[in-house]
Order: sequence, then structure tokens, then C-alpha cells
Amino acid sequence: MGANSATSSKAPMPPGMIMGPDGKPCKICTAFRNWRPGTTTGVEANEKGRTGGQKSTAAMMAALAAGSAVAAPLPRPDVPPPNCPPDVEQLGRATWTFLHTTAAYYPERPTPTQRANMLMLIRALPVLYPCTHCADDFGEDIKVNPPDVSGRVALSRWLCERHNQVNKKLRKDEFDCTKTDERWRDGPNDGSCD
Ligand SMILES: Cc1cc2nc3c(=O)[nH]c(=O)nc-3n(C[C@H](O)[C@H](O)[C@H](O)COP(=O)(O)OP(=O)(O)OC[C@H]3O[C@@H](n4cnc5c(N)ncnc54)[C@H](O)[C@@H]3O)c2cc1C
Repeated sequence: MGANSATSSKAPMPPGMIMGPDGKPCKICTAFRNWRPGTTTGVEANEKGRTGGQKSTAAMMAALAAGSAVAAPLPRPDVPPPNCPPDVEQLGRATWTFLHTTAAYYPERPTPTQRANMLMLIRALPVLYPCTHCADDFGEDIKVNPPDVSGRVALSRWLCERHNQVNKKLRKDEFDCTKTDERWRDGPNDGSCD
């Protein structure tokens, strides 16, 4: 895995913060809930009260004792507020949605041009996907498991397996690849999505 995180980088980083190839914390590689701007250790963020550190608590207690009102620091949400740039999770969800849906509507018998364009789309990800460690790992994975663009069913399965590879890496449940059409094209039999 190419990510430089708290566990793999030499410099101490707050848990979950990911280092980019330029050696700086990488915002688009990091989940919003783990992003601590302007810090390398998380200590500075704590002192600003962003993570509920002791300094802000002490300041609040002192203000309360002195009888002056003080605004408590707002708890930091887990997801970016609306209209903020995406974090690694929002970007991932949007990208998987696009890829799985595109695969679900890919022709059963694609023309050579359609196959070539699908290959280009997939091969562009390791080059262009902005989360660099995601892109690098995906690039390594598709070297070992080359895209199957022969038809809709094969492509959907191939993509499901690639997504499961990432799920495994992130210690998430694996998805049942017999259910890709239900999830991405047809919806469940109970009609709840119709
Ligand atoms: C190419 C790529 C590489 C990535 N690499 C990383 C990485 O290295 N590190 C990192 O932190 N994040 C990475 N991400 C983002 C990560 O995969 C998730 O998108 C993100 O963590 C949000 O996860 P989620 O639990 O909301 O659901 P997602 O994993 O985004 O899945 C969205 C929905 O897809 C469905 N689904 C789940 N698995 C499958 C499957 N196998 N087949 C079909 N449908 C499925 C489920 O209904 C799920 O709710 C990557 C994303 C992409 C597109």
C-alpha cells in the first residue's frame, strides 16, 4: 500500500492523516474527520479546540468561573459541510457510483470503439485520480487483474472485484458480486426503488 499514514510515515502524523507524494499532508487523500489542518502531530489542532483539547476546556471553565459567557467550540462534523470540496470518502463514493453505473449500462456486445474507450477510462484512473495513494494501489491492482471490457456482465463483475479489493484493504465488508445489477441498475425486487 502506498499511503503514508500515521502508521507508515517517519514523521508523526495525526491518526488517519495521509501524506501526499510532495511530503505534505494530502487533503483529498484524507477523510474529513481525520483532517487536522496546519498540524503534523495533531497537537496544534487540539490546542485550538478543534478536537476538544484540554486547553479549550480549561479556558471555558475559567470563563464560567469568572461568570462570563463563552461560546463552546462546535463539535467537528464527520463529513464536510455542504458545498465543501469532497474528502476521500465522498470522492470515492461518487467515483464508484459513476463506474458501477457505467458498467451496469455498458453494452452486452460492445463495439471495438466502446471497448477502447472503456479501457481508456479505467486506465486513466491510476494517472488522474486525485487521491494519489488510491490511484497508485488501483494501478497496481489492475496490472495484476487487467480490465475485462468484453461485455456488460464481465465488466460489472471485474469492477465489483476491484472495489472489493479496496473494501478489503479498508477492512470493510465485501460486496456480493451477484448483486451488482440489483444495486446499480434494477433495484431490489420489492420495488422500493421504483
Ligand atoms: C479506484 C478507487 C480507489 C480507492 N482507494 C482508496 C484507498 O486506497 N483508501 C481510501 O481510504 N479510500 C479509497 N477509495 C475510496 C473508498 O473505496 C470508498 O469509496 C470510501 O471509503 C467511502 O466508502 P463507503 O463505505 O461510503 O462506500 P463505497 O466503498 O464508496 O461504496 C459505495 C456503495 O457501493 C456499493 N458497493 C460496495 N462495494 C461494492 C462492490 N464491490 N461492488 C459493487 N458495489 C459495491 C455499496 O452499496 C456502497 O454503499 C477509493 C475509491 C476508488 C474509486
